[in-house]
Amino acid sequence: MTAKIIDGRAVAAALREKVAAEIGGLKTRHGLVPGIAVVLVGDNPVSAAYVRSKSKHAVATGLRSFDHHLPGSISPPELLAAIGRLNADPAVHGILVQLPLPPQIDPHAVIAAIDPQKDVDGFHPINAGRLAVGLPALVPCTPLGCILLTKTVVPSLEGLEAVVIGRSNIVGRPLAQLLVAQNATVTVVHSRTRQIAVVCRRAELLYVAAGRAELVRGDWIKPGAVVIDVGQNRFVDQAGKPRVVGDVAFAEACEVAGAITPVPGGVGPMTIACLLLNTMKAACTIAGLPPPGLGSIP
Ligand code: NAP
Repeated sequence: MTAKIIDGRAVAAALREKVAAEIGGLKTRHGLVPGIAVVLVGDNPVSAAYVRSKSKHAVATGLRSFDHHLPGSISPPELLAAIGRLNADPAVHGILVQLPLPPQIDPHAVIAAIDPQKDVDGFHPINAGRLAVGLPALVPCTPLGCILLTKTVVPSLEGLEAVVIGRSNIVGRPLAQLLVAQNATVTVVHSRTRQIAVVCRRAELLYVAAGRAELVRGDWIKPGAVVIDVGQNRFVDQAGKPRVVGDVAFAEACEVAGAITPVPGGVGPMTIACLLLNTMKAACTIAGLPPPGLGSIP
């Protein structure tokens, strides 16, 4: 079998177009321009590149983007005060604080300081709790992107056996919640799981977010399964070129899977597109407008 390649760049471009069309409507009908504040603390080059890409796509989609680059030496009270100002700013509907943060800052305290209605990353305990109990919530962008990518090849996830590798608050845990909400049967595995390959071979839907280059081999995959590779493992190759590989051994997996996301060009572009979607949803909620009608998007 040669797996179908799920083109995350194309799916993300289509989602951004839908969001842009909705934003056009919000502007004309309600004079509402959704705004996102992107907060970068310090000079981590990978984080800086993410932030540039997020701002570029936000502007291209019709949002306002407010970039806040703060020094890596900032004190916790100064950063919390900056978040407080963004919470109070009516032009800002979404606040994203790029992780990781410098060691003197407690990321949980920063996330908890964000107004849950503006928490477009979906990391605030109120949004995490709402997702867990099945209430409408702002949900984390990467897991949301994973669900939308899956639905391009399997429109209904109902009753399917899903395995999620990884239990982080950013990817694995919320992804498991979203899959349960889609009526999939979900197993979450992690570094303490025994016989992980055996568990993975049961999966009709296999999501891999371990941060371990090429952890999942071809013989971990059930023939015909949909494989969504969240991993982004960066290294410099022998020619000195920066490279990125996923958590799945791609060539081997392509021989067995029914469909698979590549790295790069799979989950990554969807994360940003879902951030724009979340910012538009947040702006509608704050303005008391119904959520945008984008069809089957959860
Ligand atoms: P994380 O916080 O480090 O969590 C990794 C999870 O994988 C943990 O739950 C860990 O288990 C589990 N794990 C690690 N090694 C394992 C192994 N050998 N077998 C089974 N489970 C294992 O990472 P994360 O933030 O969730 O990110 C995961 C990957 O996704 C990273 O490569 C990251 O760069 C990528 N990512 C991509 C995007 C995107 O937009 N494409 C967004 C976010 C993250 P324990 O809990 O037992 O330690």
